[in-house]
Amino acid sequence: MMAPTRREDHATQPQSPSAEVLRVQGLRVAFDHPLGLVRAVDDIAFSLRAGERLGLAGESGSGKSTMALAILRMIKPPGRIDGGRVFFDGQDITDLGIEEMRRLRLAGIAMVPQGSMNSLNPVLRIGEQIADALRDHDVPGAEHAARIAELLPQVGLKPEIARAYPHELSGGMKQRACIAIAICLKPKVIIADEPTSALDVVVQRQVMQTLAEVQRNLGAAVILVGHDMGLMAQFVDRLGVMYAGRLVELAPIADIITRPRHPYTKALISSLPSLERRAPMLGIPGLAPLLRDLPTGCAFHPRCAEVFDRCRGAKPEVRQVADEVWVACHLVEALP
Ligand code: SF4
Repeated sequence: MMAPTRREDHATQPQSPSAEVLRVQGLRVAFDHPLGLVRAVDDIAFSLRAGERLGLAGESGSGKSTMALAILRMIKPPGRIDGGRVFFDGQDITDLGIEEMRRLRLAGIAMVPQGSMNSLNPVLRIGEQIADALRDHDVPGAEHAARIAELLPQVGLKPEIARAYPHELSGGMKQRACIAIAICLKPKVIIADEPTSALDVVVQRQVMQTLAEVQRNLGAAVILVGHDMGLMAQFVDRLGVMYAGRLVELAPIADIITRPRHPYTKALISSLPSLERRAPMLGIPGLAPLLRDLPTGCAFHPRCAEVFDRCRGAKPEVRQVADEVWVACHLVEALP
């Protein structure tokens, strides 16, 4: 992974897409644990515009995948959503019934899961798995073959792959098959949860190019969940950085890469290798905190290079500090 550069096809994307397609307001997720409540997602808020690519980055356990699942209402016990609302296309979907939510998944908001190996059914051919998704959303059976034959080339797979079983495909092909399932009903929002985590860098790049192409063709918005800041810099329009269940910084990608405000974002960026920089690579000291035993005040304070007294006692609020830039840190001044 190299130091981030600006995303390559930025110029071909709408520069200021306007219509809001998803809004997350104060979302909270808790898990019941024998030792007490574990807050995995804490008061997250952001919006997503049509055609926009938003990245969510952070270390393992920062809550980014849990938040993605919460948007789709796929949190399973002992976890539960215990606060906040989610709006899709202007509609509050927080209290939708089970059947309505099932219909919304895939048709409105679709997920490209982490680890295609585990998400594809090993005993069903790829075509049957896509047909399952179409059938589940009442697409007439007579249309399935034509839809599948049209869909697979869109993700860089030959139509014959419809007859293959997952074990006959490479890792990259399996991930493309997962993208095909995710876009088979032309969703307005695609949530891609570490879609390339198990792939080598060459295949990773190819799969991300495919995801970018299908997203552009559909005009869909994408939430890319991951921890690879280099990949984020090449793919997303805006980046949210999560730490201990909170969104600690949210800003346009060029802004956050060139001028990170939160010390955790600064540490993430300075820990990337660079061909230009000759200085030793800096890591982030310490470990991510246990969510059931968070430090007082700012959860990042035991690891923060800029910590001061106030950080140990008071939790910083998320504040807007510039146009389209929100930060949760006592060091930054809110816009007047
Ligand atoms: Fe560091 Fe304090 Fe800002 Fe937290 S609030 S990131 S400890 S400076």
